[in-house]
Amino acid sequence: MITNIQKQDFDLFMEGKIAPSLSGQYFDCVNPSNGEVFARLADADAVDVEIAVNAARLAFDHGRWPQMATVERGKFLLRIAGLIRENAKELADLECRSTGKTIKHATFIDVPACADTFEHFGNFATPFNNETMEIPSPHLPAGQAGLCLISREPVGVVAAIIPWNYPLIMAAWKIAVALLAGNTVVLKPSPTACAAVMALAKIIAQVGLPKGVLNIISSSRAQAGRDLVSHPQVDMISFTGSTETGKEVMAQAAKSIKKLTLELGGKSPNIVFADCNMEAAVGGALASIFMNQGQMCTAGSRLLVEDKIYKTFVEQLVKRAQTLNIGPADSFETEFGPLVNTAHRDAVLRLIEQGKKEGAKLACGGKIPAHTNPKGAYIEPTILINVRNHMTIAQEEIFGPVLCVMPFTSVDEAVHLANETKYGLAAMVWTQDLVKANGVAKRLRCGTVWINTYGAFDNAVPFGGYKQSGFGRELGQEGLHEYTQIKTVTTDQTPGGKPLVTSWF
Ligand code: NAD
Repeated sequence: MITNIQKQDFDLFMEGKIAPSLSGQYFDCVNPSNGEVFARLADADAVDVEIAVNAARLAFDHGRWPQMATVERGKFLLRIAGLIRENAKELADLECRSTGKTIKHATFIDVPACADTFEHFGNFATPFNNETMEIPSPHLPAGQAGLCLISREPVGVVAAIIPWNYPLIMAAWKIAVALLAGNTVVLKPSPTACAAVMALAKIIAQVGLPKGVLNIISSSRAQAGRDLVSHPQVDMISFTGSTETGKEVMAQAAKSIKKLTLELGGKSPNIVFADCNMEAAVGGALASIFMNQGQMCTAGSRLLVEDKIYKTFVEQLVKRAQTLNIGPADSFETEFGPLVNTAHRDAVLRLIEQGKKEGAKLACGGKIPAHTNPKGAYIEPTILINVRNHMTIAQEEIFGPVLCVMPFTSVDEAVHLANETKYGLAAMVWTQDLVKANGVAKRLRCGTVWINTYGAFDNAVPFGGYKQSGFGRELGQEGLHEYTQIKTVTTDQTPGGKPLVTSWF
């Protein structure tokens, strides 16, 4: 059980136990609702990274985890899921205080989704359909064939690096899937907001995983991520974060040819046709940019509205955005909390100013709300009109509650605008004509399309990007496959054990 969450210290999880960093250093965790320090996190340095990686290496090379039956590994995941649910309130509280996401969001989305992912993969007892194949060979006498087993094996030591916007969910997406596949893991959350993940580490420490199978380390320094990516004993990097950091990770991983998945940024188009269900589309557009204060990789930050309904649609959107209840994240009344910290809030404000300079017009928002705590990281839900797709605000990921609205006149124009970005993570399409919707979905260059809905994630459905939104998939069978490598074992079945190849010379 987590107790005394006021100003709690969170330590590292390495070599099967919870312990401070070797240096004994901590860094502060600040609540963006009020600027107060509410927890301290152990600050891992290069020595701790070394300990964590070595523990994972030993557990993989000499431990029983990779050889264990999948169903046995799954039982650990199920126990973790159970403990997450038992500690749901405390985890939600920490996720809310460290990220600024509303307590409603943390309680009803983050914590249940985190537990669900462990449960889903815990129940995945026979995840790999290994194949056998007869391979006729010119080296074998007529009518005889070699027998080939094609199987999936774990990759080895996985370094998993996650961002701050959905810490618990991102941790579950990586830990549950990598462990089920038989890998050992070192997870490094973002220093920006990781109190709940380090509390999760304390929970996981109770389930008795073999020593070193999972290690979770907090660190204030990006160098800890670099140390993991370049570490010779790490076999695979599973990275989620910004496209800029992803490029650095990819370059670094190339030096030692590590297996790599990259889940990166987005600038997702939300295409609204005139024949949509207007109420649903307005609700979807609001959710896709103002949930979690817009700090979502799949945020529908570019809203493309068919010109016939453009004016009415924007009016409705603005009306509803202006009535969102802004306030401290820990109140169940709050619909819209602060951003993750004031530095990020200021970066978002600068991008809004840049947009205005480039010719966009504020329809609402754009400033710090008057009645909020001045030490908090608040900003108003912001809608910009007169946006052109070449503008910085339409091309760069703002990662905040800033909606850029653009009109379109035809299906072709909508598809063109939607695809005119370096990103390719997600898209939404709103129309009652499902033939049109599916036709558009096929033409969109992105990994996920939601038709008449938003954010419909499922543990069985693979998720990931096209273009500079990355490669590789999380979740689903494909997500599981990312954490494996294929081995083929071919047996010559020549009767009498005298295969032709041995008498070649
Ligand atoms: P970030 O790239 O700044 O950091 C991500 C993680 O990488 C953190 O843990 C950070 O400490 C670590 N890191 C930083 N520099 C590193 C380096 N050189 N080598 C290795 N690790 C390093 O991203 P962020 O600000 O934490 O998160 C926001 C970004 O994450 C957004 O771009 C968002 O779109 C993206 N994101 C993507 C997905 C997805 O599934 N595609 C999901 C959530 C967030």
